Amino acid sequence: MTDSPVADALRSRFEQAFMPNYGVPPVVLARGEGCRVWDADGREYLDFIGGIAVSSLGHAHPALVEAVTSQVTAIAHTSNLFLNEPEILLAERLLGLLGVPGRVFFANSGTEANECAYKMARKYGKAEGRPYFVAAENGFHGRTMGALSLTGKTSIREPFGPFPVDVRFVPYGDADALKQAVTEQCAAVFLEPTQGEAGVVPPPEGYLRAAREICDSTGALLVADEIQSAVGRTGHWFAHQHEGVVPDILTLAKGLGGGLPIGACVGFGRAATIFVKGDHGSTFGGNPVSCAAALAVLSTIERDGLLEHVRTVGAALAGGLAAVEHPLLAGVRGRGLWLGVVLTRDRAPQVQAAAQRAGFLVNALQPDAVRLAPPLVVGAAEIGAFVEAFPAILTEADA
Ligand SMILES: *Cc1c(COP(=O)(O)O)cnc(C)c1O
Repeated sequence: MTDSPVADALRSRFEQAFMPNYGVPPVVLARGEGCRVWDADGREYLDFIGGIAVSSLGHAHPALVEAVTSQVTAIAHTSNLFLNEPEILLAERLLGLLGVPGRVFFANSGTEANECAYKMARKYGKAEGRPYFVAAENGFHGRTMGALSLTGKTSIREPFGPFPVDVRFVPYGDADALKQAVTEQCAAVFLEPTQGEAGVVPPPEGYLRAAREICDSTGALLVADEIQSAVGRTGHWFAHQHEGVVPDILTLAKGLGGGLPIGACVGFGRAATIFVKGDHGSTFGGNPVSCAAALAVLSTIERDGLLEHVRTVGAALAGGLAAVEHPLLAGVRGRGLWLGVVLTRDRAPQVQAAAQRAGFLVNALQPDAVRLAPPLVVGAAEIGAFVEAFPAILTEADA
């Protein structure tokens, strides 16, 4: 029960109509503008989770509204039987930002982008006598069977095994363990540049470079899962660029469409042409409305200097929170506008609830870690408001 009869009625209808795979969320969101959202009762919140690192331009951004509206008016769908210009512009734009020759496949979600990478790696492995994959413990790559088989979190993988490919898991951030695990029989190594769902956990400096070297010396493909980290979230277009490492395959999704569903898989070098005609496809992939939205996201990030903005306000947010002295606060990790607030005890759900009562939406990601991923357009004043409210939120959660 909440204090709102409107929300309670909607929540109980949700519970009746939907499969029980989600808990029933606490808030019904009705509309948004910038970093503010309003619930079904008209109560206002500052959005510090952005639909899980998705709403890069915040809500109802004029550039996104205009791009989507004009595209849906022109033509909403073409299928892959026909070309559309937005998909071509977007693929070219992404390759330009990556600065490395490659080829793109468009899907509709993160897990599908990884499913594409998985099939590419599988095809490469079969041709080369490389039967297994390597991925990281506690990693998250998605919920479809291929992506799930790579997902290190046992509680969500175990109920659905066995899986078609042998995946060997190594502790994240341990370059020696990776070196041991990757041999000339390994087809591909799947890694997040920073583990998102595990609690926004960055690896030690140089880990991605070590992974690149290990893959180069054994011939395994390096797949960077940037579904959560790409498109400005860390203050760089892509997190791997910060480390100066080029993967063989890159996947992205969440922030790319600014709220419209789109995923992408990019192959570089030999990985660009693993697929031949007929190997893969998607009816909705390259949807012109999603591609127009993504083009608006990329242009706005560039036009408004949002990468630099993310670095500045992200540092202010991390610094402001880390400076708080509170027995419940262990530390803050992450980069840009992608932070994990680490607690000394398992009180993340209480912090989420206390933040919500104080008018902020955040996400209890792990029992002891809260994720912050506000829109990239979040203002300094909004950051300041959260930092100021934070000690009282911690105290309430600790009670
Ligand atoms: C969210 C996420 C996925 C899955 O994306 P969906 O769009 O939910 O399928 C995969 N990998 C990473 C790193 C993610 O953060």
